[in-house]
Amino acid sequence: MVRLVKAIRPAALLLGTSLVQVGLAAAGSPATPDLWSLGREQAGIHRISTLFTAQDVRERLASEAGLAAALDWCKRTAVTRVFLECFRDGYQADGSTLSNAMVRFRAEGFGVSGCVTPTQVGKPSTGWAPISCYTDPATQERVKAIFEFAASVSDEIMIDDFWFTDCTCSACDAARQARTVTLGDRTYPVNGDTWEDYRGELMVQISRDYVLAAAKRVNPQARLIIKYPQWYDRFHERGYEVLRQTRDFDGIWVGTETRDYQDPRWGGTVQYEAYFIMRWLGNLGGAKCGGGWFDPYGTTERTYVEQARQTVLGGARESLLFCYGSLQSETGPRNVEALRAEIPDLLAVAREVGRRSVVGGGGVQTGQQPPRERSAGVRLRRNARSAPGALP
Ligand SMILES: [Zn+2]
Repeated sequence: MVRLVKAIRPAALLLGTSLVQVGLAAAGSPATPDLWSLGREQAGIHRISTLFTAQDVRERLASEAGLAAALDWCKRTAVTRVFLECFRDGYQADGSTLSNAMVRFRAEGFGVSGCVTPTQVGKPSTGWAPISCYTDPATQERVKAIFEFAASVSDEIMIDDFWFTDCTCSACDAARQARTVTLGDRTYPVNGDTWEDYRGELMVQISRDYVLAAAKRVNPQARLIIKYPQWYDRFHERGYEVLRQTRDFDGIWVGTETRDYQDPRWGGTVQYEAYFIMRWLGNLGGAKCGGGWFDPYGTTERTYVEQARQTVLGGARESLLFCYGSLQSETGPRNVEALRAEIPDLLAVAREVGRRSVVGGGGVQTGQQPPRERSAGVRLRRNARSAPGALP
């Protein structure tokens, strides 16, 4: 990764490191803190949340025993908000199961929001299997129906980070060459004929018409949150536009799932990137930036907790633990035990981060820039004066 990230003076890094080290020293305390009370007390500083996928809703929240186990797990993990997902992998959760679980969590004092993961929505992309072709009219209509359903059960809806396309089918290719996005009977011009141009315009316009407008017609209170993936340097290739979409959506969220660098499947991302992307998108979104999101895949206890530290040090107001179901097996339980031991200190660090300003020289990370161009000093200097979305 090109190191044009925001430079931080050693003093600032030492601050964060020393705070976490103080926390580590205290983690062995024999007194087990009441994390539910602590989480509620500190939620205004930093909140911990988790997500139940649509499949988790079906398999883990449809019975009283499942609900009781989930409530207990959340309370023992300082989780004070839950996201109950309406759609994932072609499956839409049952409305009454969702509503019943939402009522139950609220009655127990939790914040409750919804989520949509746009995987297997409709016509498959020619690229990655779970992704869809949003040039396809029937798929566009399916998007609209999914978000109408989500808005009918929840006032706040996160969109997991599959809200992009990598399709190169003949319909997409013709639209790209025609420089035109077509949504139903509306057309939108595209400022170029590259895949980046077409996909950016397509995802911006379908977000406006078939996500935001559709959801708010059903539920005027609906707030839509776009969660940006961790792979920031390829956003523009697949239709994520952090400038326009951050303006359009009610909130943004940040993927800080860096995992283990050496992991054969998930590795290759340095831990510091979680801090960097949290800072970058946190600055870009300002008050719209809700928090960071990380998961247990390809992690050990040590790197799982490191994701939490980077997210907190990066200034997130909330840490979302993805997801309840995955945290019940494989590395999940060990990771959660390690995290629980650190939560009091992570919350203390969050309080200190909130009181302080980061100091240091600024680098530039624009909204829509190919990675190789970031290494060019001339480009860097030009963007420092003129590019929208550059870090201050
Ligand atoms: Zn296509």
